[in-house]
Amino acid sequence: MDYKELANLIFPDVKDREYYEEKYPERNLKDGAMVVRFAPSPTGFVHIGGIFTSVICSKLAKQTDGVFILRIEDTDQKREVENGVNGIIDALKKFKLEPDEGMIDEETSNGAYGPYKQSQRKEIYQAFAKRLIEEKKAYPCFCKQEDLDRMREKQESAKLRPGYYGAWATCRNLGLDEIEKRIKNNEDYIIRFRSEGNPERKIKHHDVIKGNIDFPENDQDIVIIKSDGLPTYHFAHAVDDYLMRTTHVIRGDEWLSSLPVHLELFKALGVKPPKYAHIAPIMKEENGAKRKLSKRKDPEAAVEFYAKEGIPSDAAKEYLLNIANSNFEQWRRQNKTASIDEFNLELNKMSVSGALFDMTKLLDISKSVISRYSKEEVYDYAYRWANEYDEDLKVLLEKDKEYSLKVLGIERGNEKPRKDISKWSDVKDNIEYMYDDRFLDSNVNYEYQNINDKAEIKTIITEYLNNYFDISDDKQTWFNKVKDLSEKLGYAREVKEYKQNPDGFKGHVGDVSTVIRISLTGRANTPDMYEIMQVLGKESVEKRLRKAIA
Ligand code: GLU
Repeated sequence: MDYKELANLIFPDVKDREYYEEKYPERNLKDGAMVVRFAPSPTGFVHIGGIFTSVICSKLAKQTDGVFILRIEDTDQKREVENGVNGIIDALKKFKLEPDEGMIDEETSNGAYGPYKQSQRKEIYQAFAKRLIEEKKAYPCFCKQEDLDRMREKQESAKLRPGYYGAWATCRNLGLDEIEKRIKNNEDYIIRFRSEGNPERKIKHHDVIKGNIDFPENDQDIVIIKSDGLPTYHFAHAVDDYLMRTTHVIRGDEWLSSLPVHLELFKALGVKPPKYAHIAPIMKEENGAKRKLSKRKDPEAAVEFYAKEGIPSDAAKEYLLNIANSNFEQWRRQNKTASIDEFNLELNKMSVSGALFDMTKLLDISKSVISRYSKEEVYDYAYRWANEYDEDLKVLLEKDKEYSLKVLGIERGNEKPRKDISKWSDVKDNIEYMYDDRFLDSNVNYEYQNINDKAEIKTIITEYLNNYFDISDDKQTWFNKVKDLSEKLGYAREVKEYKQNPDGFKGHVGDVSTVIRISLTGRANTPDMYEIMQVLGKESVEKRLRKAIA
């Protein structure tokens, strides 16, 4: 028997490797187009780090007229959960990160380079493994778990590197006749890669993010096909990224140490490896030390967190771009209203060590993002969120949609839009007081400030209602009247005037308008009071002011 016959004995039914190379030809894309992929395992948990990778991939593909692929890596079937693929697809949808090619549900692929789920590509990997066996670059290994455990113990006690390499790789040197006999004897086996590496030698590599790195060569005879016939991650990655014509492998830097194996696999397959960009994980500070954002400890590690809090996906994406390229912030300052699509993301500007997750910053960005939405957008997003998470807000918003739109439209659409909502879960608290059926019958806790004498408050409000309030006034007239009222009652018309002569006045126009504001809304901080009155209307303003002094 020769190696070709051995390969045939192991994989009698698979097609030639060339068949797949023809089926998945080089892509006809313009120069510089990047073909990138997000390649998660369907474990049931979508980490925000996966969204980070996807934001980067999707942005680069768009920027270069390239392709963004969603590939499902489910070769470790023990870790799989039901509906794991759908979970990933939904998460990407929520963040409006729709791949150009990839899985579109648990079983279905979309794109000419599919299927995009590894368990559906078994014969493809086997075709490539078969060729490696023919070329003597891979071999069957009959070692049992007990053999490997015993080997490891020996290595440990002799303080040697663990693993299946060199003289430890016992099946590497089995004769063809013995192999044939054992296979025909139905012994269990797996397929291992025959490494030609020598760790005394170094390979030089350039990572797009990490820069130049030296590694000792790999000499482990890693498993490429497991006993269930499925490939290991290492082998699947090499075959898939070759056949999908990936130009850049963008992945977490926990894979950096596997790079020598991957480069060696590409070499053995006789094809050029893609470029690699290893992303540092998002970090969290705890007791002064940095650690990875943890699925167990940090709620913000899970994508559901963003949905539940009602943080718009636009905001989360913008925040992730901020983490990705530190020059994003400056770009945003110079391009306040531009779409993030106009920002040019650069892989080689990504930080080598992990950026810290900063919730305050995220919410700040979110405030700005929401401030740029129209009232209709705010209504729709808030309504959709409420529909899922807050029945009471839903009821509030839908009772009188026209009125709700007016409320949400306060201080929106002008140059300095309102910035008081950072997530949809803020909306109720932000607008509830604008609804008479909630406000007028409730027990409002009026916390007056500088002016808090009951009789004085009553005087201000009564005077205002009787002689100064007119809903048809324009903003300037309205404000002048508040000044007139202040002056009449012994308050300075201007803050400046008061500061120059504090003993000459009871206070200033700001104190008086605060009394009106709190009486009207129960709050010291609200958006523009003139706009609020316009939205509430004459009757409501009068009722509210009377309630306050009652
Ligand atoms: N399935 C691997 C993971 O989830 C993918 C790594 C890669 O992108 O190649 O970490």
